[in-house]
Amino acid sequence: MNLTQSWITIPDQSDFTLANIPFGICVVDNYYHACSRIGDQVILLSHLVQEDAFAKYEIPDGLLNEPFLNSFIALGKSITVPFREEIQSWLSDQSNASAVESDIFYHIDDVVMMMPVHTRDYTDFYSSIEHATNVGKMFRDPENALLPNWRHLPVGYHGRASSIVVSGVDLHRPMGQTMAKDASAPTYGASKRVDFELEMACIIGKENILGSPVSTAEAEASIFGLALFNDWSARDIQKWEYVPLGPFLGKSFGSSLSPWIVTIEALNPYRVHGPKQEPEVLPYLQYEGARNFDINLSVSIQPEDSEEVVVCRSNYQYMYWNLLQQIAHHTVNGCNLQIGDILASGTISGKNESSYGSMLELSWAGSKKVDVGNGQTRVFIDDNDTVTMRGHSGSGDQRVGFGEVSTKILPAHGK
Ligand code: CA
Repeated sequence: MNLTQSWITIPDQSDFTLANIPFGICVVDNYYHACSRIGDQVILLSHLVQEDAFAKYEIPDGLLNEPFLNSFIALGKSITVPFREEIQSWLSDQSNASAVESDIFYHIDDVVMMMPVHTRDYTDFYSSIEHATNVGKMFRDPENALLPNWRHLPVGYHGRASSIVVSGVDLHRPMGQTMAKDASAPTYGASKRVDFELEMACIIGKENILGSPVSTAEAEASIFGLALFNDWSARDIQKWEYVPLGPFLGKSFGSSLSPWIVTIEALNPYRVHGPKQEPEVLPYLQYEGARNFDINLSVSIQPEDSEEVVVCRSNYQYMYWNLLQQIAHHTVNGCNLQIGDILASGTISGKNESSYGSMLELSWAGSKKVDVGNGQTRVFIDDNDTVTMRGHSGSGDQRVGFGEVSTKILPAHGK
């Protein structure tokens, strides 16, 4: 059986080839469905498992019609990995082709994509050395841009899970307290420096018991998959509030997630070695093998009544700290990760200016204008701008992509 070919027509440049087969949650006719996707067709899994090929998985009734994928993920990789491979096999077997007319398939335009997982905890790392260096140069000492801990541990903070929204949900510009340059007292008002951060989200697929660290050797088994993530940031609120305990209201007004979770297994062909880490890290952070992933990323801005313009092209492979190290560090004190938790990568910037993953860096703290077409420029995000992030690995019938995470920033409440 040729597993590169399906009887479903897949448009050129589709992120959703037979090599991908991601998982998500959609609503069709007011019912939740765990689903997958090939080309522009969404596959309703509760309907698919009625086919004989899937009987052996004995998926409990109702589990594929829950509002989140958490129970499906909790079945464990011993079931979900062969289940995904069975979908690939079934989609390649020409004898199933008549199912294209069945209620297994719905066009992507005829479903509503939802948050794929219930996320109880969200952690945001800071793992791109280029991003951390750029921020350090802008706000601290250009000669000592990285703080002393940075090369020794993957820096992170605990974010806010309740305000993570799926692609397509608009967010309002936040109100808050800021301190203007040279002012003697803070003022209250709408943030003037709303920014995106280009990140990847790791969706945790296996919990560890409180008090039981996960080693780098075990950590990959804890990863269900990856999605695109926009860690919205209000730079002016953040700047005034973050000392000494770190990000708070400048971050928690919203973060955006793409609806499809691409499994770590689908990304296997795109493993690459990460940057060399110097000095050598402590033993609990050491790892073996190629643990970064070559994922092409882009960010575009679309002003209202205008075309979208790409302002950044980056790659996930630039990450200094990889997922195994982030998980090992997160759990080294015994902290328990839970299914559906999100570990965000931190802003993914590369070495050249066009690969910077935030407006803070692209506009160099507001000192440079970024062209967004039609004679318009931006230093941060304006009201009614839509920011869209995309990502994919590979090409042609081996392309494994994430679709997009797209969010419009509305005026502040009451404005
Ligand atoms: Ca971030």
